[in-house]
This record gives sequence, structure tokens and C-alpha cells, in this order.
Amino acid sequence: MKGPWEERDGVLRYRTRGGVDLYRLPVRLFPELDGYVYLIVADSHRILVDAGSGLPESLADLRQGFETLRSRYGCPVGPADLTAILITHGHIDHFGGLSALRAETAAPVFIHELDRRVLTNYPERLITVAREIRAFLAQAGLSLERQSALLSLYLSMKSMFSSTSVEGLLAEGESLFGILQVIHTPGHCPGQVCLRLDEVLLTSDHVLAHTTPHQAPERITRYTGLGHYLESLRRTAALPGIALAFGGHEDPILDLYGRVAAIEAFHRQRLERVLEICREPRTIAEISRALFGRQYGYGVLLALLEAGAHVEYLYDRGYLQVVNLDQLEQEPEAPIRYRRL
Ligand SMILES: [Zn+2]
Ligand SMILES: [Zn+2]
Repeated sequence: MKGPWEERDGVLRYRTRGGVDLYRLPVRLFPELDGYVYLIVADSHRILVDAGSGLPESLADLRQGFETLRSRYGCPVGPADLTAILITHGHIDHFGGLSALRAETAAPVFIHELDRRVLTNYPERLITVAREIRAFLAQAGLSLERQSALLSLYLSMKSMFSSTSVEGLLAEGESLFGILQVIHTPGHCPGQVCLRLDEVLLTSDHVLAHTTPHQAPERITRYTGLGHYLESLRRTAALPGIALAFGGHEDPILDLYGRVAAIEAFHRQRLERVLEICREPRTIAEISRALFGRQYGYGVLLALLEAGAHVEYLYDRGYLQVVNLDQLEQEPEAPIRYRRL
């Protein structure tokens, strides 16, 4: 993709109007997920934004990126030179590489307070969230056997990260190091932040160029959910003067405002579609199947959570009703059936 930046050996560089150099380093994160780590260079600051997944290929790509900075851009920065590491949100594809990086740098780690404990006590977040997911899956209409299979897949991530300390917080509206502005955009993740550098916005997983970022119900993790997400999109659309945006995955975004409008329209359509599906009483598992077809492995959980986020949004706002109240009164564990009002 061409744009107002240069690219050498896969590493992109953009100089902002204020003279800050932003480098984008490509990393393989998981077998089917690629993304980016960013390095901000201004005066004495060497700020890494996100750390990759921590899998061997992600760490190898990060090292290769640093090597390209040195050999192709004459910018000799390695882990030991970093002055800060900012984690845009508490998802493992963005912070998993911290464990390995911290052995090589004394740079302080920053994250939004709503995701702080994901880093400082990773098993706590996984195990407490798993309890909520189990209740969600039961109410969504999955058999005990399928609940257990999905939960063990979810909990298998427990060994992927050793908890670490957090030295600083990314707080809404705060200006960091005189060059960055923090915008808290909860929805995709409770502590999701976007970072503004002059006319550039690092959107992380809040806004992506092609994919509509994944949503999950707020009943599982507070400050996620479609309501918060749509509010955050509106706040993003109201930021003045963003000429270029870079996400945590996928291409740069040349028209952020257009992209935000397209994502909002996409969710409005999906909400309409859920109402359509709920002309007859449906469980969340049935709604997920109607929306996404048959899914496999982790995809099953992602589809159920996405469907659940839309059902929750509609139910909370009075567009859906629960039709099997008598059954639920007798059997509190029974699946919930929703119908449009
Ligand atoms: Zn994410
Ligand atoms: Zn991501």
C-alpha cells in the first residue's frame, strides 16, 4: 500500500508534522494473525508501543525490525535503548512479548488502569473471566461438554505469559512525554487506548482498516460491550485533524472518519439482522449460528461472544424480550430465549 510514508524491508517510517519519527515494525503474532509494533523516536525518547505476542516468531520479527531500523534507517535502537513501553490494551497479541523484552530493558511499562491487572496478575484475569464465560455459555444454550471444551481452550492461554509489573498508567486526556495524547476508547477491551501524535492516531484494535474489531458482552468483562464501543467510536470521530491512522493489525487508515462511520454502520446492520433472526424465539447459540454459520475451535467462542454483545446491546435497550421466563424461574440454568419486541 502506498501513502505519505517510506518503507524499507517491511519497516515503515512516517515523520509527523511536529517532527516525530514513527516506525512500524511487522510481527507475526499467531499462526493466522499478523500485526505491528510501533516505535516512536523524538528527542531523547525511544517509546515502544505494544510488544507482540511473545511467541518465538513474534520475538524474532521484533528483533529483525530493530535490525532494519539500524541498517536501513540509520536509527540504532534496541530493547536496551527504550525509554518506555506503552501497551495499548490487555490482549495477549499486544503484550505477550513483554516477558522476553523485560529481560533486556529497564524501560517502564505503561497501560490503562482498567487493564493493569491483566499484566500484574494474568492468571487472575483469565480464571475470573472464565467463570463469567461459563455462565454466559450455559445461558447461550451450549451443552456442558461444549462449555468445557471452549473453556479449556480459553484457559490454555494461562501458560503464555508470566505476570509483570506496571510502572505507569495511560489515563484519558493525559499528555505523555510532551508528544503523545492518550484517548481512552473502551469497548474492544476495557483499557483500550488510542494514542495521538500530532496528526496521527495509533488506533490499536479500536479501529482497523478492514476488519470490524471483535466485541464481547459487557456482562463478561466490564467496560467492554457494544454500548461502550459505539460511544468510543463517536468520540474518535470527534477528534479533530487526524490525517492518518495506524492500527495494531492491517493497513494504515487514510480516512479515519470514513472508516469509523463504516464500522458504526456495520454494527447497526448487524443489530438489525439480530432483530430479524429473533422474530422467532432464539438462544444466543442459535443467533450466532445464523449470523456466522458453523465455526471451529476458538472461532466458536469468538462468534458466540460477538453475537452475545449484540444481543446484550438490544436487550439492555428494550428491543428484545426473554420469552421463557416460566422455565427460567424453575430452572435457573436453562438457556435464555430472546424474541424481538
Ligand atoms: Zn485486541
Ligand atoms: Zn490485536
